[in-house]
Amino acid sequence: MCTVNLITGGAGFIGSHLCEALLERDQEVLCLDNFFTGRKANIQHLLGNPRFELVRHDVINPIVLEADRIFNFACPASPVHYQHNPVKTIKTNVMGALNMLGLAKNVGARILQASTSEVYGDPAVHPQVESYWGNVNPIGPRSCYDEGKRVAESLFFDYHAQNHVDIRVVRIFNTYGPRMLVNDGRVVSNFVVQALCNEPITIYGEGNQTRSFCYVSDLVAGILRMMDCDDFTGPVNLGNPAEFTIQELADLVIELTGSASELVFKDLPENDPTRRQPDITLARERLGWEPSVPLRDGLAQVIAYFDALLRQSNDMPD
Ligand code: NAD
Ligand code: UDP
Repeated sequence: MCTVNLITGGAGFIGSHLCEALLERDQEVLCLDNFFTGRKANIQHLLGNPRFELVRHDVINPIVLEADRIFNFACPASPVHYQHNPVKTIKTNVMGALNMLGLAKNVGARILQASTSEVYGDPAVHPQVESYWGNVNPIGPRSCYDEGKRVAESLFFDYHAQNHVDIRVVRIFNTYGPRMLVNDGRVVSNFVVQALCNEPITIYGEGNQTRSFCYVSDLVAGILRMMDCDDFTGPVNLGNPAEFTIQELADLVIELTGSASELVFKDLPENDPTRRQPDITLARERLGWEPSVPLRDGLAQVIAYFDALLRQSNDMPD
């Protein structure tokens, strides 16, 4: 029997790469999305595949479907998008998790939650290990996302303890790659698009805050290993431990694009985490996983993607 995978948020950046990877395994894919930040263009090339189906649906409402495996990825991930309608972001995280866990319980599916490094907030422990409980402002501008994801983790572990639902929880660190939105607002897409357009590169704060960037193909490989792994609920960190300052990222983007962009410094958003780096010892030990794509190589892919996209839109008649 062919495995049926339900991917919520399947038309988004990571979700669409996951759909692709599961189809490459000759499995069935039900891609569910409300198209808030997802796009049909991300999955257009999959529509002709008989193993692929698209369902337009909002996870805050219950749905009845048959699936063997559920990947719960529905939620805007860029601070600009998740802060646009914070109440909706909380609903998506909490009601979405409840609805998908209820579905998993009813149909006996294994279910994986796309959690986040944001559960660690502005971390007082560095690098971040799974046993660290985090430092999150419960009433700040990021809390709709951070606390929403923390409640979702609680729900996953409560459904596991109370109802024996077969859960998997991955804490994803900053991931980048083709199919991020041009107006996504996240740092990699912002810098690459600004550099390609020779517009000023917007560094928030002094640029000495750090992030650790994971290329999407590495992340998808880790997600699949986690879903395939028996007897391991997580939570497990998935990310690339190579840590860069935002200034270093800007310099690298300028070097790789050969851009004439200058750097401009803007206010640092409230509660912006100062440092972030995953400790991936657990993923190495339990999943035999670690990322292999260096930032320089991944950025080259993203630059080529946005370059083609921007040229295409410039060629379009008004
Ligand atoms: P994305 O915004 O590209 O994808 C999110 C997808 O979810 C979109 O297709 C969107 O339309 C859909 N969606 C949003 N609300 C929905 C709802 N109520 N009902 C149905 N669909 C809905 O973001 P992404 O980077 O692909 O992130 C995917 C998941 O991974 C998110 O859950 C995010 O929190 C998590 N994550 C991502 C990162 C990262 O660096 N990209 C880091 C940590 C966690
Ligand atoms: N950032 C920046 N310029 C931008 C967008 C983001 O300097 O145009 C900074 C942001 O303040 C943060 C880091 O880059 O310190 C990563 O931001 P992103 O929104 O990509 O992800 P997150 O803050 O959720 O890790």
